[in-house]
Amino acid sequence: MAIPGNDYTRLSRPAREFIDRTHGHFIGGEWVTASSTIPVIDPSNAQSISAIGGGSEAEVNAAVEAAHAAFHGDVWRGLAPLERERLLLRLAALIEANAGLLAELETVDNGMPLGFANINIGGAAGVLRYMAGWPSRIAGETVDVKMPFPGSQFFGYTSREPVGVVGAIVPWNVPLMMAMWKLAPALAAGCTVVLKPAEDASLTALALAGLIAEAGFPRGVVNIVTGLGRDAGQALVSHPLVAKISFTGSTATGKLINRLATDSLKKVTLELGGKSPTLVFDDANLEQAIAGAANAIFTNSGQICVAGSRLYVQRKVFEQVAEGIARHADSLVLGAGLDPASQLGPLINARQLDQVQGYVSRACAGGASLLTRREAPEAEGYFAAPVVLADVRQGDPLVQEEIFGPVLAVLPFDDMEEAIALANDSRYGLAACLWSGSVSRVHQVIPRLKCGKVSVNTAGFPYPALPEGGTKQSGFGRDLGREGLEGYLDTKTVLIQAS
Ligand code: NAD
Repeated sequence: MAIPGNDYTRLSRPAREFIDRTHGHFIGGEWVTASSTIPVIDPSNAQSISAIGGGSEAEVNAAVEAAHAAFHGDVWRGLAPLERERLLLRLAALIEANAGLLAELETVDNGMPLGFANINIGGAAGVLRYMAGWPSRIAGETVDVKMPFPGSQFFGYTSREPVGVVGAIVPWNVPLMMAMWKLAPALAAGCTVVLKPAEDASLTALALAGLIAEAGFPRGVVNIVTGLGRDAGQALVSHPLVAKISFTGSTATGKLINRLATDSLKKVTLELGGKSPTLVFDDANLEQAIAGAANAIFTNSGQICVAGSRLYVQRKVFEQVAEGIARHADSLVLGAGLDPASQLGPLINARQLDQVQGYVSRACAGGASLLTRREAPEAEGYFAAPVVLADVRQGDPLVQEEIFGPVLAVLPFDDMEEAIALANDSRYGLAACLWSGSVSRVHQVIPRLKCGKVSVNTAGFPYPALPEGGTKQSGFGRDLGREGLEGYLDTKTVLIQAS
């Protein structure tokens, strides 16, 4: 039977009304009518349910100018730090008060199950609460300066200053959470922001704009322009008044943005793709490892940057673990996000579904064995069955390329050295998960993995105080934590001759 799309009678009235609204851009504290529109597609049924603005260069320019005026008018960085904290906390409270609405919007726009959307909205508010603690704690240091000039006395110190206007460009996979990873630290640092959400999922960013106005943020501190990457995104990266681009998205787009930003030597933070390994050693608690490795790849239908898409299992327990995960995958309920029974929603769009199916069929044609039994689902929406594939080679595209779908490649290893070598054999370096009962083994492996994050005996979820980011072609710079904040601060050195 075909998987039905979302049943809109389940939507709350505020969500229905929000979806039916004409959406513009949020510039200088006002709603501005968009010059063109892009349809909003519900991925559960491939139907157009609303429209957002397709931001043009002129609209991006207006947003950057509003952010620039707000930055230099000192309406934000000139506020007392405790006042900035108060506004950030007020916004966090408004997100929590509107969590139901935001979760529903995320579900119909991105496709994710409502339960997962609720977790993400709560997580976004948590990031804001964490970053709200920083404004009054941002500080430089004093330095004891002694110069070789007789009788002279010097005083040296550093101060930390916001970098200026930030262009934040984010993907569609966890829309509000990804936006908050940029907005919260930038605002805590005293920057003003132009946010460009992904064209495939912008509704929660637009709802957030309403909450920003309601919280009482000064005009122009946060501006939101929706639209295509090649139009609105590129205009933002090229704008001379933007001091920093903070980007999360694919490695290909990240490289393009980095090249474009070089012309004006903008600061750039890139949180890019991944092909993260999960290593299961034979001394692990296998029941927990199976559930954890399945979560690491199948959460959000594999559309997670740190998705554990390569699974390496020590040979002695290989069959038990591979079959356990395949059974887990076959038991997951696929369905539209508003259906409370759904555990896996659709993929974001037809292109993503084609890409995922293409990888699986090419791997099978090349000799890979499907350990999962589910047939490809019938549906109007973009549903992909979760699959586990064995008999693959380390050099195969299935093992080397980011698929961004519910597809797991399982390979055996014999010993720790081989496991480390296989895990590191990737152009990406975002994250890794280890499952082992041996503390000493875990400590031997962690420093030898070339990646930005290692999770041990857990699937590895983000936490506001712990930085997230990658090495190699997974990018540079960090979101979250103190390092996330520091990416939005410059250091000024001051030297004073007192006598
Ligand atoms: P994408 O690169 O296609 O798009 C991301 C954003 O960039 C969108 O807002 C898009 O409109 C914009 N964009 C596209 N082309 C642009 C251009 N030429 N100039 C400026 N902006 C442009 O990525 P996606 O498909 O939306 O997201 C999936 C990717 O994001 C995956 O590779 C995933 O691994 C990555 N991701 C990484 C992290 C992380 O923290 N490392 C987190 C989530 C997603």
